[in-house]
Amino acid sequence: MHFIEIDLRLLAQSPLYIGTGHGFGGILDGTVVKDAYRVGDQLRPRVCLPGSTLKGRLRHYFQHARQLLPHLSRPHNERTCRQQLSAQCCAECRVFGSKLRQGQFRFPDAPLLPELTTLDGNALTVLQITQRTGTRLSRSRRVVKEKHLYTIEAATEVLAFKTTINGEMGLATLNTDALNAPEVVLMLLACRLMERIGGFKTVGLGKVKTTVEQVRVNGQASLNGQGDVDGRLRSLWVEGSENP
Ligand SMILES: [Zn+2]
Repeated sequence: MHFIEIDLRLLAQSPLYIGTGHGFGGILDGTVVKDAYRVGDQLRPRVCLPGSTLKGRLRHYFQHARQLLPHLSRPHNERTCRQQLSAQCCAECRVFGSKLRQGQFRFPDAPLLPELTTLDGNALTVLQITQRTGTRLSRSRRVVKEKHLYTIEAATEVLAFKTTINGEMGLATLNTDALNAPEVVLMLLACRLMERIGGFKTVGLGKVKTTVEQVRVNGQASLNGQGDVDGRLRSLWVEGSENP
C-alpha cells in the first residue's frame, strides 16, 4: 500500500454559497456552513468548506479529467463496476467509492487558512460573510414570482481554504511510481480543473481557484507546488495523445 496526500488550497474568486444542505423544496436555507474556532476562551464561527462538498465537486471534475485522459481508465458503468472486485472497478469508483464499497480517498473539511483566523475576531466576522439578494425565474411560466425572491449568505471572495485529501493505493493499481497511478493522475487533474464550487453558480457565485501545494507519497514530498504538478500532467498528456 502507498499513502498519498494532496495539499489543496482553494482561493475564492467570487462569493461562495456553500449551503448547509437543508431545506430545498420551497424553503431555501440561506446560511453558509461554518465551523467554530477558539480565540482565548471564546468560540467564534468560521466559514468552512465541508469535505462532502469537496468530494462531490472533485468527483464531477474527475469525470471530466477521465474524458481528457481516456487511456487511464474506462468510464464508470453502474452495472460492470458492481460486478467487479475493487481493484478492477473504474478509477472513479476506486477513488470515490460506490454504493457497494468505500472509496480509497478521504476528503476532510477545508477550514479557512490559519492566517485568516488570526485576524481580530470581529474583523473576521464582518469579513467572511456577504448577503446576496436575487430572484429566481419560475422555469415553467417564465415569470419572476414574488415568492422566488431570495436572500442568502455567501462567503466572501477574499477567503481562502486549505485541506489535505488523502488515500491509500493498492499495489495492484500501481506501476513502479505511485504518482503514475490513474487514480492519482486523474485526481490531480480534477483538482486543476475545479473552478466552481457550491450553489448559485448561474448567478456568478462559486468561482474558485484550486492549487495543489504539495503531493506526498508515504510521507515523502514528491511534487512541490502547482508548477510541478502541471509539468507532470503535461508529460502525461503528451504520452496519452501518442498512445490513444
Ligand atoms: Zn465505476
